[in-house]
Amino acid sequence: MPSAIQGQIVLNFNLFIFLDLWLDYFCPMISVFLKKTVGSRVALGHPWVFGNEIGRMEGEAQGGEIAEVKSHDGKFIGRGYINPKSQITVRILTRDKNEPINEGFFFSRILQAWEYRKKIGYTRNCRLVFGEADFLPALIIDKFDRYFVIQTLALGMEVWKPAIVRALEEIFQPSGIYERNDVPVRELEGMTQIKGFLSAPFDPLVLIEENGLRFEVDLANGQKTGYFLDQQDNRRWLAHIAGGADVLGAFCYTGTFELHAAHYGARSVLGLDISENAVAQANRNARLNGLESVCRFEAVNAFDVLKQWSRDGRQYDVVMLDPPAFTKSREQVPKALAGYKEINIRGMKLLKKGGFLVTSSCTNLVSPELFLQTIDQAARDAKKRLRQVTFQSQSPDHPILRGLENTHYLKFFIAEVC
Ligand code: SAH
Repeated sequence: MPSAIQGQIVLNFNLFIFLDLWLDYFCPMISVFLKKTVGSRVALGHPWVFGNEIGRMEGEAQGGEIAEVKSHDGKFIGRGYINPKSQITVRILTRDKNEPINEGFFFSRILQAWEYRKKIGYTRNCRLVFGEADFLPALIIDKFDRYFVIQTLALGMEVWKPAIVRALEEIFQPSGIYERNDVPVRELEGMTQIKGFLSAPFDPLVLIEENGLRFEVDLANGQKTGYFLDQQDNRRWLAHIAGGADVLGAFCYTGTFELHAAHYGARSVLGLDISENAVAQANRNARLNGLESVCRFEAVNAFDVLKQWSRDGRQYDVVMLDPPAFTKSREQVPKALAGYKEINIRGMKLLKKGGFLVTSSCTNLVSPELFLQTIDQAARDAKKRLRQVTFQSQSPDHPILRGLENTHYLKFFIAEVC
């Protein structure tokens, strides 16, 4: 690290130590005491404290401040940010009594997340920070080579956005930082939706490379943060099954799976997505890789088309399904499962005997077991047998924190269908 930057960091730290002391003196810490009956989940490591778990509070919280979480009898459990407007009233940032929450805290947590990515070999394009699983609740940072996309999904994290941006600048000297906070979940925290540059403006259409293929990623207008990095390892599986195949990919977005299939030798590939923008981008990506003679994309409703084409008796060697999350609420899980069953029945019926079904689910409320049960039911209804090829999850740059089930959200299953 150049010494000028080091000097700057030391200066920043000194400034914040001073600010910290000042804040401690003039704004006494808010304390949240858990009810006696509900203390153990949080005490055992879960970072969320729900409103109905709080017995009493000391100090007044407007939202966004740092609070100490204590057991009913006053033992220190952790320190986190508080928002009385949110159902998740406190999200714990540290369980170390001696660790203050200040700009240095965010710098070192982001640095730790980066060190971890480097250790496991995810550096060029990766999810740099995956919220709770990186001990930075409600913060998402995706790294697309020299560009970064940030989401601050809770008020207490939003407050630290400038510190987070400065940490990225210091660690990476990025070419650009973009904020994709245009997500409804922010409204549950009393915040508005917003997107835009957090650095000097730049062309938000950036080029990335994955598995030897090139993709244009629209950081400003693409879905979520622009690109689904979580499937980056799973896409490589197509190398084993796509050679010489006629491939159908439903819910293709910008054609990532489809272009991998073509790259690994598919004879023909048809990708479907309801979004005209996604299809236009998929076509541009096909041209970018010289695969436009193999890959075609159509803007259609996949639910309708899968139904119709299976009735028409169309047949493929590989069918890929990667729909969006079907629900975010527990009450809607049965409906989501019915949706998965329906599209997977259609997918299986569209396969030649011995063809491969490549099917995903990113609904975090649907557990891996429940997803597999649903696929099994679909096979029974479609009168097919499945031979499992592989069952995987998200790539490890989206760490799964054991015990925090919503960090284990992606299911990726390949089966031979006979
Ligand atoms: N496979 C992609 C990600 C897919 S995200 C990748 O790895 O990059 C889910 C996609 O489903 C989105 O692009 C969304 O536009 C599309 N989608 C949602 N509803 C749809 C529908 N009814 N028919 C077709 N596509 C749909």
